[in-house]
Amino acid sequence: MNTPRFGLRARFMLAAGGALLVVLLLVVLMLTRQAAVQKEVLRSSGEVVSQVFDQSVRERGTALANALAEALVNPLYYSDLSAIGTLVRNTAGQKSVSYVLVHDHEGRLIHDGSFDVAGYGQAMSDPLAEAAVQADRMLVQSSPSILEVDLPIHIGDQRLGGVRVGMELAPVRVQEAMAMQALAARMEDARSRQMGWIYALMALLVGFAVVMMIYVQRTLVQPIRWLGDAAQRIERGDYRINVQATARRDEVGELLRTFDRMSQSIARHDREVRQMAYTDALTGLTNRLAFREALDHRLAKAKSANHGLALLFIDIDEFKRVNDTLGHEAGDDALLQFAQRIAAAVDQEGGEDALLARFGGDEFVILIDSGERIVAETATRLAERLVLELGRPLQVQRREIFLGSSIGITLFPEDAVDATALLKNGDIAMYQAKLAGKNCFRYYNRAMDHAVERRLHLEQELRGAWGRDELRLVYQPIFRTRDRVLAGVEVLLRWDHPTLGAIAPSVFIDVAEQSGLIQALGPKVLRLACEQATQWPRNHLGEELFISVNVSPRQLRNGDLVSEVENSLHASGLSASRLHLELTETAVIGDEMLAVSLLEKLHRAGVKVWLDDFGTGFSGLSHLRQVPVDGVKIDRSFVAEMERDPDDLALTTAIIAMAHALGITVVAEGVEQEAQFELLSQRGCDLVQGYWLGRPVEAGELVRMLRPGPQALAAD
Ligand code: C2E
Ligand code: CA
Ligand code: CA
Repeated sequence: MNTPRFGLRARFMLAAGGALLVVLLLVVLMLTRQAAVQKEVLRSSGEVVSQVFDQSVRERGTALANALAEALVNPLYYSDLSAIGTLVRNTAGQKSVSYVLVHDHEGRLIHDGSFDVAGYGQAMSDPLAEAAVQADRMLVQSSPSILEVDLPIHIGDQRLGGVRVGMELAPVRVQEAMAMQALAARMEDARSRQMGWIYALMALLVGFAVVMMIYVQRTLVQPIRWLGDAAQRIERGDYRINVQATARRDEVGELLRTFDRMSQSIARHDREVRQMAYTDALTGLTNRLAFREALDHRLAKAKSANHGLALLFIDIDEFKRVNDTLGHEAGDDALLQFAQRIAAAVDQEGGEDALLARFGGDEFVILIDSGERIVAETATRLAERLVLELGRPLQVQRREIFLGSSIGITLFPEDAVDATALLKNGDIAMYQAKLAGKNCFRYYNRAMDHAVERRLHLEQELRGAWGRDELRLVYQPIFRTRDRVLAGVEVLLRWDHPTLGAIAPSVFIDVAEQSGLIQALGPKVLRLACEQATQWPRNHLGEELFISVNVSPRQLRNGDLVSEVENSLHASGLSASRLHLELTETAVIGDEMLAVSLLEKLHRAGVKVWLDDFGTGFSGLSHLRQVPVDGVKIDRSFVAEMERDPDDLALTTAIIAMAHALGITVVAEGVEQEAQFELLSQRGCDLVQGYWLGRPVEAGELVRMLRPGPQALAAD
């Protein structure tokens, strides 16, 4: 958590500190101003006080002097010294009076209040004397310690002399000083009381700032910091914030609540996006994208911990058939069931950290990560279980479907060390499992890389094979069980490659189907077979042989089948009744509407339609009712097992009985032993085909077989 360098709290502290400082400055300024004013007040009050005191001394002095001067007029005129002495002493005895001097008009002392009047008749020589003698009106003069009031004394116009009353200033000054002291003390008192208030106010202010700061910290800074942190966490993709449910009724509370709602909605949105981006919509499993990420991650971990990993690639065999024939809804249903079975198997055998993903279509991938060096054992166990579980019939749209799975396994670090190579290996191994006959698993090995290359090479070679005359047709005889007569042939394609030699139809037909080449090859086979069949003689009963041509599901889908058939018949001149088409059971039964209309058109053209490989896909005997086919070919796997497996025998018997009830011909293929033939003919199977009766042969050989002479079963 990186705290912002100059955050809200710092700013607020700075502002509060600034405000406090300003207040402090103002207070200091105020205090110094006040001190100056106080000094000034003290000084001017000192002046006023001394003026007031001087004034009162002067007034008393003046009053005393006036009274004395008036009282002295007569005694002075009559030179009554004793009366003068009494008057002078009276006044001199007054408080604050320092001295009283009576003098004549020339400044000679007449009386000073003493009994002997030592200086009588002598001129006064003190510093104030001269001005006092000169004054012809009242004069007030002072020395530092004395305030003197002088008054001349007249009788009529004649000046008799004067009186000088000296008032003491010292006690006044003392009083003055005392008053000033009291004033100063008062002022000091007031000042210190004021300072107390100011300190209290300052403390209150600081307290207020602190409380404000705590409040701001609590109500603003903390929530905002928290919001900032939470927003940063959300930005990093961490949505596990938990907003404290706040009951605050202010803007911050509203903001927190809004943020809460917003973060929840972002988290939800993120979850949804992740869900969408990382899971498969149909099965809810991890998807390819998420698996790739997880795989990279697990690989890195396994590398550092020296663990082994195993990848299992599962592909549902012939899944496309379900989609093509039963529709996509059924396909989805089947996929879901498969996904559940796979998940259950992974739970049981895959170990703790196994990861299952759907790679799209009918492909699933499992990562086994048991944390051990050797994981092959777990992989084998899981693969065995999967083959078993996925081979059990599925219930889709009230129908039983038999599908299998092909599984490819690749190991880390044995086969490859990076994800891309591992995924490619798994795919290759899975493909090899398919080539090996499906419904099995294969471990990847390096030789398989060549197999893939070979297959690509085959496809390229097959493209021009017809033009280079490498493809030819062979015919496998089909006999009637009733009279053991050769009634027709199945047309089978052969490819002799100049360098690769004879390539098995199971291999190259598959390549042709997967690559779409079959759409070009199919009509050519049909036309050539029709042409050749017109050349053949009749059998010894005088019947013309039928030809049974295999039609790929892809030829059904592209919709030109009917016109191709009509063209071939027209061009060759073969009668329509001699042509049979072998459609696979699954290709026809799924889309009944389409199948019915197609079969009707073919019937109108006059050809017969047989269901090939009957019994391998959908065990839907009842469908025979809805689909108007002319015959069914019981798959050779049933025939092969018939003797050993009572179920297969029962099913074969049921198929024959059911078909006959519907008026449908039954053909059995893959008859390799006499016993099989006997079993089939006992149960009323109409036609048989197999190595025991005759292998596929060239047209020339077939013609030889048809030459007049006894035609019995090959093995007789
Ligand atoms: P399919 O339609 O089931 O053809 C019958 C296959 O069984 C033929 O294999 C045939 O040789 C083989 N077979 C016959 N009797 C026996 C027997 O007693 N035992 C055993 N084990 N096999 C027997 P083939 O010729 O290898 O053809 C394989 C598949 O290739 C055919 O299976 C068919 O689906 C396909 N195919 C062959 N030619 C054509 C063609 O011209 N067009 C199309 N669309 N598919 C073809
Ligand atoms: Ca066939
Ligand atoms: Ca067949």
